[in-house]
Amino acid sequence: MNKNCQSCGMPMKNDPEKLGSNSDGSPNQEYCLYCYQNGSFTQPNFLAKDMQEFCIEKMKEMGFPKFIGWLFTRSIPKLKRWSASMNVHNKHMKNRSTSEHVRGQVLLCM
Ligand SMILES: [Zn+2]
Repeated sequence: MNKNCQSCGMPMKNDPEKLGSNSDGSPNQEYCLYCYQNGSFTQPNFLAKDMQEFCIEKMKEMGFPKFIGWLFTRSIPKLKRWSASMNVHNKHMKNRSTSEHVRGQVLLCM
């Protein structure tokens, strides 16, 4: 079993009930139940950054400061769901836009 959901990064190791479900009803070992149910993603149109924003919002609702949310979600683009769909365009843009994006995020957190 993966330690974390490969879509949102949520830890699932000690919580088999948080596993997503395949179309045949069996547990999916890679994604949590919030991301993956009955064989499909609950937010099929999400990009990695949408998932990051979504998780930061969720954590804010749970009372975590925004920078904790950011720390928690910054590895999301490296998870299997997102890295598999990384295309040439993204790869090309990546270096420049990532550093700008990170700088913007840090400023927002201060
Ligand atoms: Zn998840």
